[in-house]
Amino acid sequence: MVQQPSHLPSELATRSRWVRSLRPPVSRPGRETEPRVILDQEWETDGSLIHGAVVFLINRECPWSCVMCDLWQHTTPVPLGRGHALHQLQKAIHNAQQQTKTPLTQIKIYNSGSFFDTRAIYPEDHQAIAELLQPFQKVVVESHPTLVTHSAMAFADRLQPRLEIAMGLECAEDTVLHQLNKRFTLEDYVKSAKELKHSGIGHRAFVMIQPPFVRPEEALGLCLRTVDFALQQGADRVSLIPTRSAPGAMEALRKSGDFTQPTMELMEACLEGAIRQAPGRVYMDTWNLDSFGSCSLCRKERIERLVHMNQQQQILPGHKCPECS
Ligand code: SF4
Ligand SMILES: [Zn+2]
Repeated sequence: MVQQPSHLPSELATRSRWVRSLRPPVSRPGRETEPRVILDQEWETDGSLIHGAVVFLINRECPWSCVMCDLWQHTTPVPLGRGHALHQLQKAIHNAQQQTKTPLTQIKIYNSGSFFDTRAIYPEDHQAIAELLQPFQKVVVESHPTLVTHSAMAFADRLQPRLEIAMGLECAEDTVLHQLNKRFTLEDYVKSAKELKHSGIGHRAFVMIQPPFVRPEEALGLCLRTVDFALQQGADRVSLIPTRSAPGAMEALRKSGDFTQPTMELMEACLEGAIRQAPGRVYMDTWNLDSFGSCSLCRKERIERLVHMNQQQQILPGHKCPECS
């Protein structure tokens, strides 16, 4: 079912260089750049609403160069040193609290890589970070599955709030994971998820809708199999991420026929199927769906339907469009 890529270098190190060589010139953040922070609402599995903040820390670039990743744009080419992440987090929490009178119970700390990358967020800072996060009830950080080691368990022990680790599972197909340059296997994922469960740490999975190297007609089946795989490994929540084209490697893969952007119909079918599988635990990332270039007459209604399905966790009636239905 997996397409044989036409231009993708087969050797991993060469592939990473290929991915980096295609990056467009951008102005990257520096040591003094303020971390972005936004307020966030999320529905708990019991239907209650959680008010939280999402902090986008700036630190060194993730050492992997996955084919579809554009997060490097928000990172620095060199590590920023001990204490920097703590300092940013202090500022970001202060800024988040200034934006609302509602008490924030959850914080997501996203660092365009892995929280447990020791040169992004230094382990020497973990204790002070844990103390800073004490007022929250839940802390979500992201990590590559192979970095979920004793350091993650030790951080969870220091934390008073419950820790949840978000891992980019992407898809339950080893061949595609390899082609994406993810540098982990499904077996690695299973091992990390087991360790998290054993240590009482929560886990959420990111699943791509129609990754490169997958034929469009196979994408729905693969997405639902991946959701099922994540749930079997104990994921508390699964976020579906429609795969976006972007300048660089993804654009090259689109041109060579190895990648097609998912349609709005596919996204709807994926969320419907996932909600059927696990109501209360699956969500669609609706960020910037406007850019997916679907029918202009019904795009707004379709996006609103996805947002409402996220909130209500049930399949709502589909939109009938005179133009495209
Ligand atoms: S591991 Fe995650 S952050 Fe790192 S390059 Fe891959 S997708 Fe991007
Ligand atoms: Zn339409």
